[in-house]
Amino acid sequence: MNDTPASGSSDRLDQLTANLARVEERIGAACRAAGRDREDVTLIVVTKTYPASDVRLLAGLGVRHVAENRDQEAGPKAAASADLPLSWHFVGQLQTNKARSVVRYADHVHSVDRLRLVGALSGAATAAGRRLGCLIQVALDAESGTQGERGGVAPDGVDALADAVAAADGLRLDGLMTVAPLAGAYAGQPRAAFDRLMEISSRLRETHPAANMVSAGMSQDLEEAVAAGATHVRVGTAVLGVRPRLR
Ligand SMILES: *Cc1c(COP(=O)(O)O)cnc(C)c1O
Repeated sequence: MNDTPASGSSDRLDQLTANLARVEERIGAACRAAGRDREDVTLIVVTKTYPASDVRLLAGLGVRHVAENRDQEAGPKAAASADLPLSWHFVGQLQTNKARSVVRYADHVHSVDRLRLVGALSGAATAAGRRLGCLIQVALDAESGTQGERGGVAPDGVDALADAVAAADGLRLDGLMTVAPLAGAYAGQPRAAFDRLMEISSRLRETHPAANMVSAGMSQDLEEAVAAGATHVRVGTAVLGVRPRLR
């Protein structure tokens, strides 16, 4: 077996095992520091740009949540992993014409940021007979009434979108997502950004109590997200390695 690709895959398994253990340690330490239970934070491993074989290895290591940001890549990868006990999260900017494809494999879409997308996802989920979990993506650096450069709705647009998701057939309003802004008042201040997201989440839960998912924190800032109260962290690089290209 040593000359087959299996030997390479055992190196990869060792690498993923070690990386996952380090990330698990970081999440555990952040939970202890914040006085939170480890079970209250879910790790989502972002597998974008990495092959389905990595998804399979991760599932074998106990990973249960994976995320992708491009439908063209995610669809085939999810199909190749259909036998694995995984939840798929879609976290990228989403065009309405991809909604039909995404609802086939995604359990959650974290990047709901405009009414047209709510309509497209609702129609697609209903046609597929599925109920899709939706998170509103908040662009903390976007001006009132606009969208963020990397997707997301400005904070003052959250309520209207949340109401639309909650009222839409085939959709379930699960919570909020953000990416720490690279520009604007929150640049370099992930903790302040995530605290702001938590405030918006608390207000949202006054009218939508079940919308309690808070998706925040990536490889660089997962500690700040756990400290602020995130329920889901989305970690790519720290588990899989530095991606060959920026996406
Ligand atoms: C790629 C990506 C992540 C993971 O980022 P890392 O820095 O690799 O951990 C998290 N969230 C979103 C929306 C992403 O696109």
